[in-house]
Amino acid sequence: MCITDSYRPYRVQAALLIRKPGLAAVPGTSNHGWGLAVDLCDGINDYGTPQHEWMVANAAKYGWENPDWAWQGGSRQEPWHWEFQGVSP
Ligand SMILES: [Zn+2]
Repeated sequence: MCITDSYRPYRVQAALLIRKPGLAAVPGTSNHGWGLAVDLCDGINDYGTPQHEWMVANAAKYGWENPDWAWQGGSRQEPWHWEFQGVSP
């Protein structure tokens, strides 16, 4: 498993919006700015791979989810984007 992106400070969020306007969130609204989101690679970054399927099946046990807007067919498809929700006791 590898990480493409993790914590992203505000100024970097703003720069990303200029570079990738279709992809980046409005600065200040991304969970990357709270240190609660990671972008993963090594297979997880594509829907339907064994790595992505493993994450779909198991990430919630560890408190992580690919939010529904990022699902295949979601409003912004980002199979690589995972957010920490916390683990229920
Ligand atoms: Zn992300």
